[in-house]
Amino acid sequence: MRDFSNHAANRVPERDVSITDITTCVVAGNFEWNLVRIHTDAGAVGLGEAYRGGGVTDVMEYTKRFLLGENPLDVERLFRRIIQETSGHGGTTGKVVTAASGIEIALWDLAGKLLDLPVYQLLGGKYRDRIRMYCDCHAGDAYALEDGYHAPADDDAYDPEAYAGTAREVTGEGFTALKFDLDQPTDNHPNPYNGRLSNAAIERKVETVAAVREAIGPEVDLAFDCHWDYSLDSAKRLCRKLEDFDLMWLEDVIPPENTAAQREITRSARVPIATGENRFRVHEFEDLLYDFGVDIVTPDPTTCGGLAESKRVASRAEENYITFSPHNVCGPIGTMACVHLGACVPNFDVLEYHARDVPWWDDLHDHGDPLIDDGYIEVPKKPGLGIELDESVAREHLHDPGTMFG
Ligand SMILES: [Mg+2]
Repeated sequence: MRDFSNHAANRVPERDVSITDITTCVVAGNFEWNLVRIHTDAGAVGLGEAYRGGGVTDVMEYTKRFLLGENPLDVERLFRRIIQETSGHGGTTGKVVTAASGIEIALWDLAGKLLDLPVYQLLGGKYRDRIRMYCDCHAGDAYALEDGYHAPADDDAYDPEAYAGTAREVTGEGFTALKFDLDQPTDNHPNPYNGRLSNAAIERKVETVAAVREAIGPEVDLAFDCHWDYSLDSAKRLCRKLEDFDLMWLEDVIPPENTAAQREITRSARVPIATGENRFRVHEFEDLLYDFGVDIVTPDPTTCGGLAESKRVASRAEENYITFSPHNVCGPIGTMACVHLGACVPNFDVLEYHARDVPWWDDLHDHGDPLIDDGYIEVPKKPGLGIELDESVAREHLHDPGTMFG
């Protein structure tokens, strides 16, 4: 195996820094927020967040066996080293790349603190001063939070007027873009395995989309997520019925594995089609982007490979005039990492905000004011990510009480 350890040790003394420890914790928000800190002999500490999921913090701590003693300023080399060192046990895709994404984000925060520059500056500079957020919304009784997950419900819980009411509230808070889930557990009854939608199920969805569009008017950007549920024929029928609502996008309308099928639905539908949150590293986006299998690409930077890898995905999208609108279900730390990325990607449009149901979201960081102001987050000017945890609030919401960056 090639040796990806430090061969370029020739530095000025103030940049001769070593990683001394990597520690993690999990905050229980509406998802598991997997946080990581990278400690150094210079005293500076980098903070990062990886996408949700069990075992991610274990993998992040596993990287200690080859990252301790490394210079954290070599962010991209260290990301490659994680992939290289884990290539036989997951380093090319999935949870290991998720863990590497969290480490990579913490390394950018650390590099910014060591060099006294904000992360967007390290990534090439910014195109914009504030990032437009879209609010992922839930409505009615259908998505009552239960143990951090969305509880299934029967048809009656999906009242179009409840969706419309939430849409009015959210646009009243200043958001200019919003998204609802359009899939329902009862969609494919009595046969959930074939992905076929009945005409009645499609009609329920049309009524929901119509009610929301009516509530918010024609100007607000509106997307719906289908969570990979439908067969190709049903997806086509659904897309046809939603053509007249000027949607920002319809997301994950078919299962995610088959790029040829994705291209077929994207090319046949007149509704813009979005996908990307299931894909890892730039390689899994190449055919999707170069063969026009998507209209709006939605990678999750905290799982697909971090900020630099996501920027490579954005560049390939830009070559093909495809819009880049990242998926995000993180707490404030991962969200702010995506804000820096959005600042320096020309084809960026909107970033997801998925924590409207978490009343202590804005207590978890050190900004004092709410991060989102009138539907936008200002790109921080401070070094690194420009955000720190409020530890006392984080401690109150730990997934495993007592396990706080230990
Ligand atoms: Mg989605």
